[in-house]
Amino acid sequence: MSTIHILKERERQIYQKGNQPFDMVCEKVSVAGSVSQRACVFCGSRVVLYPISDALHLVHGPIGCAAYTWDIRGALSSGPELHRLSFSTDLTETDVIYGGETKLYQALTQLIDIHHPKAAFVYSTCIVGLIGDDVTSVCKKVEKEKGIPVFPVHSEGFKGTKKDGYKAACDALFKLIGKGAIDDISPCSINILGEFNIGGEAWIIRDYYERMGIQVVSIMTGDGRVEEIGKSHGAKLNVVQCSGSMTHLAKAMQEKYNIPFIRVSYFGIEDMAQALYDVASHFKEKPEIMEKTRELVRKEVSDIYPMLQKYKADLKGKKAAIYVGGAFKAFSLIKALKHLGMTTVLAGSQTGDKDDYEVLRQMCDDGAVIVDDANPLELSKYLIEKDADLLIGGVKERPIGYKLGVGFCDHNHERKTPLAGFVGMLNFAKEVHATVTSPVWQFTPRRDNSG
Ligand code: SF4
Repeated sequence: MSTIHILKERERQIYQKGNQPFDMVCEKVSVAGSVSQRACVFCGSRVVLYPISDALHLVHGPIGCAAYTWDIRGALSSGPELHRLSFSTDLTETDVIYGGETKLYQALTQLIDIHHPKAAFVYSTCIVGLIGDDVTSVCKKVEKEKGIPVFPVHSEGFKGTKKDGYKAACDALFKLIGKGAIDDISPCSINILGEFNIGGEAWIIRDYYERMGIQVVSIMTGDGRVEEIGKSHGAKLNVVQCSGSMTHLAKAMQEKYNIPFIRVSYFGIEDMAQALYDVASHFKEKPEIMEKTRELVRKEVSDIYPMLQKYKADLKGKKAAIYVGGAFKAFSLIKALKHLGMTTVLAGSQTGDKDDYEVLRQMCDDGAVIVDDANPLELSKYLIEKDADLLIGGVKERPIGYKLGVGFCDHNHERKTPLAGFVGMLNFAKEVHATVTSPVWQFTPRRDNSG
C-alpha cells in the first residue's frame, strides 16, 4: 500500500509522542478539503438537545439537515418519545427567495397543536443564516400564542465548529432553567450534565447516586424533561460529564445561581469510582454518603472483576486507536484499555483544546500519535502504521476500521449498549474482546496473506 501523506495545513494538528516539542494547534475551523470527521454547528446543537423527550424539535431548513440528524442518538426515554421524530420546515427555492418565516410559523403552530409538547426548540441551519429569517421573533410570537416556551437555537451550520453548536444548545437550555419551583429539593442534590442516556446509561448513573443518598434533580439532557430542567437551579452541585458540550452551561449556572460544578467521567472503573467519590466529598457534612459510596464501589467492582480478568488474558498486549468527540472521554478510555492490558497507539478528538491534548500526551506511551480534528486518510495512515488491533470511534469511523481489517467498538452516541458505569465497563470489555479476537479480520484484503 502506498504511503499516505498528511496535508501541509494539517501537520501542526498532529503530534507523535517522542522527542519533539509539544506545540499542537487545535480549536480552529476544519481545513477546507480535508474531509473532516467533525459534524457541523447545527448537528452539535441537535445532539445535545435531542434527548429532551417531551419537547418539540423543529429543524428550520432544507429537508437534508433534518434527515441527517433524524433519531441521531441511542438516547432512551422512560416516558414520551417525541424527540425521536424529526420535523423540518423543508425550505425550498421559493422560501430562499421570499423568506421562510411564514412557513416556520405555520409549521410550529401546527406541530404544537398536534403534539402538545412542553417546550419547542427551533434550530437554524445554514440557509436560514444566509436568507436572514428572524427566527427569534417567530419563536416569541408562537410562545405568546401557545403558552409554552419556544426557543430559537442559533446553530447555522457554517458559523464555526461543532463546539459552537454545543454552546448554542447550552444558551437555549439556560433560558429554560429557573422556570420551576424548587421547594422540594434536598440539600444533598445534584444535576447530571452531559449524560445523554445512551442505551440507558443515565438510569445506571442515577441509581448509583440515589443509592448514595443523593437527589438527582435533572439530567441534561438524557431522558430529559422540560419541567425537571426548569427547576435544576435548585440543585446544590452540577456534575459535568461531557465537558466539551456542557461546561459552558455549568459556568453560566455558577455565575447566575451560584451552583459549583465538577468534571467527571463515568467510563472505566477508576473514573466511575472517582466520580462517585468526588460527589460524596462535596457533601462532607453527611459522612454517611461517603460510607455508602465506598460500599457501593466495593460491591460493583467485585461483581465485574472476575470477568474482566478473563477478557484481559486474551487482550494483553493488543493495540488500540481512539477517535472520539470530546477528549475527556479519551482519557477514560485509555485508562479502561490499560485495565484490559491494552496500549493506546492513537488518541484523537473532534473538539479537544490544548490542555486536553497535553493530558493525552502525558497519558500515552512514546510513539503514540495524538490528533485533533482528523480525517479518514489520517486515521487510516496511523491505523496501518501502528498496526492497531482496535479502533474506538463512532458511526463515521466504523467503515475505516472494518475496511482495514481492524476490530471496532462504537463508543459514540448512536450505539444502543450502555458503556458507562461499572456494568458498562463489563459491556465495553466484552465488546472489545469480541471484536479484537474475531477471526474475520484475517480475510480482509489488507491482512489476507493467501496470495
Ligand atoms: S446546517 Fe448546514 S452544514 Fe449542517 S447539515 Fe444543514 S446544510 Fe449541512
